[in-house]
Amino acid sequence: MADELATDVPTAGRALDGATPAEILRWASARFDKLTFATGFGAEGCVMIDLIARAGLPIDLFTLDTGVLFPETYELWRRLEVRYGVTIRAVRPALTIMAQGLAHGPALWERDPDRCCDLRKVRPLRAELARFDAWITAIRREQTADRATARVVEQDAKFGLVKINPLVAWTRDDVWAHIYAHDVPYNLLHERGYPSIGCEPCTSAVAADEDPRAGRWRGADKTECGLHHILLRKRA
Ligand code: SF4
Repeated sequence: MADELATDVPTAGRALDGATPAEILRWASARFDKLTFATGFGAEGCVMIDLIARAGLPIDLFTLDTGVLFPETYELWRRLEVRYGVTIRAVRPALTIMAQGLAHGPALWERDPDRCCDLRKVRPLRAELARFDAWITAIRREQTADRATARVVEQDAKFGLVKINPLVAWTRDDVWAHIYAHDVPYNLLHERGYPSIGCEPCTSAVAADEDPRAGRWRGADKTECGLHHILLRKRA
């Protein structure tokens, strides 16, 4: 499919609408020399690593290691590397948790989570993406209102490169069907009421009737890290 598509982003984006994630990844790998996938080890990210590795695509992999991920997430990170024989690079903030505490006060996530996400996620991501022409994400349209208008291929104005979202049209059931069909490793916290997993201090379990992302920054006026779109606020 890659050979049949135009290389300019808007045309390719239209042509890839409806393509499978594997087809989109193959196109992206052929189109961009400096291409990376940034994973947060959600269920979708595990699917993406499975697709990339099984297709043998030479795509860089990294994660933002904020220093306060769950132990289960660090364990999954190693499990994925062993299972697929890949290296998932760690991209870390300039400040350790201790240094951030000294500079900004302890537990900044409790007092100013936007500032904490900026220091520990957005700034490191911006610096890392400056080395690449395009990045792949695992976002899906149905995850949040902010992601509902995401395209398969789009220009990322925030970080200044092309953004590719192969799973954008997938449902949660599609993700889990792929995981079970291909025995993809996933975070064991998903079986304990954590459908969406971020940093440990800012993630709680959700009830069966809650939105899957209700456990992210629970009680705070915040729904996104600021990595994918401008921050949207929770409705009152
Ligand atoms: S999710 Fe929480 S701990 Fe992690 S960077 Fe954002 S505010 Fe800080």
